[in-house]
Amino acid sequence: MNYPNSWYANTLNEHGIRTAFVGSRKTDVVVIGAGLAGLTTALECLRAGKTVTVLEGKRVGWGASGRNGGFVMAGFAEEVGNLVKSVGLEKAKTLYGYSRMGVEYVREQIMSLDPGLMMGNGVLGVSRYLATAEFEHECGFLRNYCNHAVERWEPEKTRSVLKSQCYFDGLYDPEGFHIHPLNYVRALALEVERLGGKDP
Ligand SMILES: Cc1cc2nc3c(=O)[nH]c(=O)nc-3n(C[C@H](O)[C@H](O)[C@H](O)COP(=O)(O)OP(=O)(O)OC[C@H]3O[C@@H](n4cnc5c(N)ncnc54)[C@H](O)[C@@H]3O)c2cc1C
Repeated sequence: MNYPNSWYANTLNEHGIRTAFVGSRKTDVVVIGAGLAGLTTALECLRAGKTVTVLEGKRVGWGASGRNGGFVMAGFAEEVGNLVKSVGLEKAKTLYGYSRMGVEYVREQIMSLDPGLMMGNGVLGVSRYLATAEFEHECGFLRNYCNHAVERWEPEKTRSVLKSQCYFDGLYDPEGFHIHPLNYVRALALEVERLGGKDP
């Protein structure tokens, strides 16, 4: 089964095909789904000394994990102000800290598995309308409460760097980075196999 046509599918590092599972097997952990969540779980279980079997219905990285934007950065889909409203300041800080740990986790895996998966450093979030107050608030929260040295860019800077008049405010995260997501999940799968994880 071929991956759906995409730039990611057309720039695969390797094309290995895994065969369908037949029979039975004894294993400590069964992971269903070879996406980012499943393969990361499998990898950490193997590193903790468990035996692991990964069951994937289609191909490694077939779902969102193999065809997403490839942006790795701290934070959540929800804006930080709403996160604080939902769970309170202390828990929001803790959750944000976990998300930064996730970013560093992915960086460490890439550096040890294949540094060539890294496609760029730094992530810039921009607005399509003047949103200075929101961006200032977000930037202040991340810098003051989360000790995260993000930068707020004035519209002139955003526009000059992007060479476009379409955007306004910018929030630059120097810790964020960009990866080839399909090659990353496939690199995780190879590492799972190297450590003894089975992908029938
Ligand atoms: C368009 C888009 C862009 C995105 N951009 C980003 C981004 O830039 N940065 C970011 O961090 N996140 C991004 N995301 C989110 C991110 O891709 C997902 O949160 C993440 O990939 C989810 O991983 P997962 O392993 O939970 O699921 P999936 O990647 O969907 O993996 C699930 C796997 O399970 C398999 N499966 C399902 N059911 C079964 C079954 N019954 N038996 C066997 N196998 C099964 C599927 O075939 C699939 O391979 C984006 C998502 C989308 C949709």
